[in-house]
Amino acid sequence: MGIILISFENCHQMSNLAIDFMSLALEQARKAYDLDEVPVGSIIVKNGEVISVSFNQVISQNLVTSHAEINAIQIASKKLNNYRLVNCDIYVTLEPCHMCAKAIVDARLKNLFFGALEPKTGAIVSIDRFLDASHLNHRVNYSSGYREADSANLLKSFFKSKRY
Ligand code: ZN
Repeated sequence: MGIILISFENCHQMSNLAIDFMSLALEQARKAYDLDEVPVGSIIVKNGEVISVSFNQVISQNLVTSHAEINAIQIASKKLNNYRLVNCDIYVTLEPCHMCAKAIVDARLKNLFFGALEPKTGAIVSIDRFLDASHLNHRVNYSSGYREADSANLLKSFFKSKRY
């Protein structure tokens, strides 16, 4: 990949690059689907380079915290040998929950891109606007709608097959 610059001012146009990265996150979500996990995928990008890919593994890990974003943060932090992921962006196929939103802030991620909205637990715009909270000491930019329909359809198909 060449030089990558994402301007959030232009994000309403949905950069092709962000859509490409979200497609990689969607591939991760499909891995979760194949393993009977709720299909959510996440990747972390630094300077245009993908440094971490992961997906939801709550069931296989017997761990409620094993959301795609947490797993991706863990892998990236180990890779960079730093619990702060400065100048890194996170892509996730579904709107993050409160736990993941807090982790994204604490990891000092720069930008959050997400796909589908999560009306029941989404903490970014759906049930809360956590990242906009004035008490936070780090501001994460966020933007949604990337591969939204594909992400939502994958989730729908999953829950239909499970008859939840
Ligand atoms: Zn979460």
